[in-house]
Order: sequence, then C-alpha cells, then structure tokens
Amino acid sequence: MKVQLFSVDALGHNILESLGIERIKAFLNNNNVNVRTSYINLVLNYTMNEFTEVANKIDFSCDIFGFSIYHSNRKEIIKLIEIIKEKKPNAIICLGSKYASLCYENLINEMALVDFIILGDGETTFLYAINYLENGGEVCNIAENNVYIATKKNYTDREVCSLDINTLPWPDRSNLKTTSSLFAYVCDMHGCNGNCSFCGLRHAKMKLTCRTADDLMQELIHIYNTTGIRIFYFTSGSFEIPGKRGKERIEALCKLLLEYPVKFSLRCYLRAENFDDSDKELLLLMKKSGFSYVFIGIEAGNEFDLKVFNKRAVMEDNYKVLSLMNDANIYASDFGFIMFNPYSTMDNIVENFNFLLSQRSCYLSKYVSDLKIILNTAIYKRIKEDNLIIKDDIYKFLHSDVNEVSEFIKEKFYKSDLFKNELFFNELCELYFMIKDMVAMDDLNEEIQDVFNNLLSLLQEYFTDLYVTKDIQKCDENFKAFENAMNLEYSKCQMLLYRVRKKYIHYMNTAPRDNMV
Ligand code: SF4
Repeated sequence: MKVQLFSVDALGHNILESLGIERIKAFLNNNNVNVRTSYINLVLNYTMNEFTEVANKIDFSCDIFGFSIYHSNRKEIIKLIEIIKEKKPNAIICLGSKYASLCYENLINEMALVDFIILGDGETTFLYAINYLENGGEVCNIAENNVYIATKKNYTDREVCSLDINTLPWPDRSNLKTTSSLFAYVCDMHGCNGNCSFCGLRHAKMKLTCRTADDLMQELIHIYNTTGIRIFYFTSGSFEIPGKRGKERIEALCKLLLEYPVKFSLRCYLRAENFDDSDKELLLLMKKSGFSYVFIGIEAGNEFDLKVFNKRAVMEDNYKVLSLMNDANIYASDFGFIMFNPYSTMDNIVENFNFLLSQRSCYLSKYVSDLKIILNTAIYKRIKEDNLIIKDDIYKFLHSDVNEVSEFIKEKFYKSDLFKNELFFNELCELYFMIKDMVAMDDLNEEIQDVFNNLLSLLQEYFTDLYVTKDIQKCDENFKAFENAMNLEYSKCQMLLYRVRKKYIHYMNTAPRDNMV
C-alpha cells in the first residue's frame, strides 16, 4: 500500500516541515511501508486558482491519504478530500493530530468522506491500519479491535494513544534537504504537565516523556551534517519541565552545545512560573550556548484572565520571567497573548493593553488576538455551560461593550491585509533575533530598531483610542491612515528581511565549521 501524508497550511506561514507527518513517515519506512509527505502552503486569503494549483500535489497512485488536521486547515482539507474522492473513489482517507484526538466525534460525523481517525500518537496505529487493510480487512471495520481508531461505526469508548518519545525514530529529514528552510523543528518531549484551559495538547492527555540531552544533541548534529541548518526550534510546550530534572537536562544540553565546534541558534517554549532569580546562571549559560529566542505562554496581562485560562503563573511571574530574559539578553518579546476571551471586560482589556505597552510589544496580532477555542477543552465546556457558544467553536462575549469592540476589529482588521503583511515583521523578528549573535549586522540594527519604534508608536496611539478612550467612531475614521502607516512599516520589514536573510546565507556558505563567532 502506498501512503501520502499531507501538511496543509492556510495561514500563509509557508510551513516547510511538519514533524508529525515526517516522524510517521520515518516509522512506517522502517517498517517497509512506501510513504511520501507533501506540503500544501496557501497564502492568507488565497484565491480558487491558487488552491487548484497546490492541489496538484496529490499523488493519485497512492492508496491511503492522511491529513494532519487543525481548526485552521479544516476547510481546505475537506476540499482536498473531495478532489481525491472525485478522481479516486476507492481512496482511503484518514485524519490525525492532537486536534483530531480531541474532537474526533464531531469530525467523523461531519466529514462524510473520512474513513477513519487516528487518536493520539499515530506511528503504531497507522502501521496497524496498513497491516489490517493489506490483510484484506474492510476499512469500515478497522476500529473494531483497535481503540486508538475512530470510525463512523466505532467512535465511542475510544482512547488516545500516548507513546514514549524515546521509542520513536527521529523524523525523516529528506524533505527538508530539498527546501530552502533555514531552520528545523526538533521534538524534545511528549506531553506537558501544565493545565491551561484552552490547550488541546493537555486535554488530549498525552503522557510526559522526555528525550535526553545527548539524544537531542545527536539529532541537531545529524540535521546540521545533512542539511547545513544551524537554527533549531524545540517544539515541546515547556522545555524546562519536569522540575529539577528538566533544568538539569537544559544544563547538560548547553554543555554539549558549547563543546561542539559549530555555533547553533535555538528557540524553545518556556513557562513563566518555572523561572526565578535562582535561574539567572542557567539563563546566562543558555544564552552563551545558543538559546537566543524563547517563547513564553504569557497569555494575559491581568489576573482575571490568567484564572480564566487556568494558568499557573500570576502577573508577578509574567513580569519576572520577561525581566530575567531581558537581563540574560534572550529575546522573549514574542510571547503567547490573548487580548479577548468570552469573559473579558473592558477593564481587563485595558490592563492587557498596558501590559503589552510595558513590554514595548510591536506585534499587532497580540493587540487584537481573540481566544481560539478547541472543542472539548476545559474552556470550551465552561463557555458552553454559560450559554456563550453560538455554533461549534464560535462564541459570543459576556459583556456587550467588549462585543462591540471585537466586532469593530473583525470588520476592520480581519478584512484588511494587515495580518498578511505582518508576517514580514514576524519573519524578520524570528530570523534577526535568532542569528544576531552569529552574524554581524551593525549596518541594519538601527534601521530595524526604527521600524520597531514606529510600529510601537502607531499601535500605542491607535489602541489608546480604541481601548482606553473607547472612541470607536474616531478609530473608524482613522483606520485607513493607520492601515497605510502600518503597511509602510511592514514593507520596510520585507526589505530588511531580504537583507538579513542574505547576510545569513552568506555566513552559512562561508563560515568554516570551526569558526565560532
Ligand atoms: S503550558 Fe502550553 S502545552 Fe502546557 S498545557 Fe499550557 S498551553 Fe498547553
């Protein structure tokens, strides 16, 4: 049986690698299954022609087509499945992902053309499904003897498969070798011991298992040796857990990184409440060994919203962790943040806004972000109980003044090209802060800082009118001017990104292996 696995991105992020499908590919290849992985990347607000063009990547010689499904790509996956089934009615369609593991009952009932859904870690279950079908089993009965599969016939009493990460192969990187990606993802852990109310990972009940520092380092070296990539993003929800052992793992990895003759740049996710003054030395060691960028799930700038999200961190932790990162010179301004949730009050929103300003945040999306709910998470259940669900994952706000502001944002911001253009700013920040310690950028630093300052002034002025003065009429009148001014800064980001990228590519091509900066 031939298998094609898809990663579909409809948010314009141009995803070049999905660890989920590449790890299943590695596992199935080790078990002699012929698998290919394909990437469907769409620009934000894509046209039908653009969609038809990317759909050409479907390989109709395959028998099973698997999709990693999320809330954000659900619509596109439905369209792709329709194309497959139209040309090849006997094609077998399956879905997987943490999202699918949470809301498989809805998906299996709503997506008529899907044959089965794999729940939790997919490696062993996918192999079971292939063997079952190769041995003549009927796809409609595939879940009869396997609780990790859901079908239209068998979707009750199902379980989420949770595998020890140390039993799984490293992801297949052959696709990465053919792309122009400057970075690679590395999965360092399964599960998370946080309990955020909105999180699909936590509620998919994955067991916590961690890879050793040595195994991680071996994989970084392997990727570097096969692709030349020196920038790595660790994917676990919080790189520092579990507790003391987690910090020891970081320290051990830092030592291995410092011993290696090539400098790498690393990004990871951290949790705010897990760092205090006693970690100052560890953070300096992290910085020295290449951790230049961390992403912290701050989520809110007020205590009320933090409780809604069931965050363990309080505001004091949030301020503390960002100040510790600042002292260690590790970039941490790209933190997780949710401006609006169904229980928001205008006072909370003003507190959130002031928090963003206190951190000099220039990310437009953080100023307007709203909670995206995943079906069956704790927050979803609460919102449903409170009768705030309109349909599926669409909710209303408890307070009418918040609703009015949110409607204004949807009408103005989401119908503009601002978020599409903000991607240039996001990419610039990512690359610039990841490579700043490797590549000299004296001629660009000032220009980049000017753009950040300009964006911050624009955001401060506009959102003071919207959130503090609450003058929606004035914001309506000023929107076009604001949009034009922001887009001008984003076009500068696009040019700066080109120059930063060029410098980095030159550095990669010329820096000898032992020439550490
Ligand atoms: S810390 Fe991150 S991964 Fe863990 S439960 Fe919270 S949102 Fe999920």
